[in-house]
Amino acid sequence: MKILLLGKNGQIGWELQRSLEPLGQLIALDRQIVDGLCGDLSNLVALRATIRQIKPDVIVNAAAYTAVDRAESEADLAFIVNAQASQVLAEEAVALNAWLVHYSSDYVFSGVGSVPWLETDAVGPVNQYGASKLAGEQAIVLSNCKHLIFRTSWVYGARGNNFAKTMLRLAKERDTLNVIADQIGAPTGADLIADVTALAIRQALQQPELSGVYHLVASGEVSWHGYATHVIAFARANGETLAVTSVNAIDTTAYPTPAQRPLNSRLNSQKLCAKFSLHLPDWQSGVTRMLREVLNK
Ligand code: NDP
Repeated sequence: MKILLLGKNGQIGWELQRSLEPLGQLIALDRQIVDGLCGDLSNLVALRATIRQIKPDVIVNAAAYTAVDRAESEADLAFIVNAQASQVLAEEAVALNAWLVHYSSDYVFSGVGSVPWLETDAVGPVNQYGASKLAGEQAIVLSNCKHLIFRTSWVYGARGNNFAKTMLRLAKERDTLNVIADQIGAPTGADLIADVTALAIRQALQQPELSGVYHLVASGEVSWHGYATHVIAFARANGETLAVTSVNAIDTTAYPTPAQRPLNSRLNSQKLCAKFSLHLPDWQSGVTRMLREVLNK
């Protein structure tokens, strides 16, 4: 089996390089052109030609325009990468009878209420990034290609930058931190997402009726403030020297950003767990593991 992975160096893409390898021959690309193969999602012509040349059985798209605030002023590029490229991938998947695995976001929802979103809930993005991710999903679903679309939230990996690492750095530099407490979600490890992806692909190859949209997040819920408090408490308990003495809870309105953020980022992953017989660990276990790696504890 031939698998084409796009976005190999992103948080999820990096972990997919590991988890997809045992499934078959893996061709992993980032946006650079290598051996005439192009994984740049803003170059739709070259992207299409690359898929036709490789003829994968499974396309896994971990590449995306993920700069949420910048997307407000670069909406055209966000839509090319997140929506038009998804359409190209879907069309080529149909032509090859290949599977398309794709990632989306809780940002397709409006963020109102406090109930975890179901796959069947009405969408209503509040910013350009969310709108571009939704357009990408819709292009894939409408194409009728065999697809697995995993909507996730608050992704972190041990590699690269993430919220927890930023909190650790700031906790060493400052005595007071102000962190948003009215946005609620579940920090979800790129490693968990990549492992679930590999398991789901294996099963979907045997059961094409599993094609669909799935929510995929760690269990439980927390605010950014609660997440920061957890990270700082872990670091302190494990001997890190921190300057911070108070972590204040603030509202989203006290921290204006170019892109509006949904307050309710909760996703209900029951459909995924039921259809694929999976268990999703609580968010603390993955975050603690990542912190142990980052802090070498
Ligand atoms: P990252 O930002 O870590 O990785 C995205 C990757 O896409 C980067 O390697 C980036 O490359 C690449 N990329 C950007 N533009 C292009 C392009 N034009 N052509 C090719 N590659 C490009 O994102 P994550 O791993 O966190 O996200 C993976 C998926 O999960 C995305 O679909 C995202 O929308 C979704 N998601 C992420 C969440 C999060 O909290 N991070 C939450 C919910 C969903 P480069 O570094 O060169 O720019």
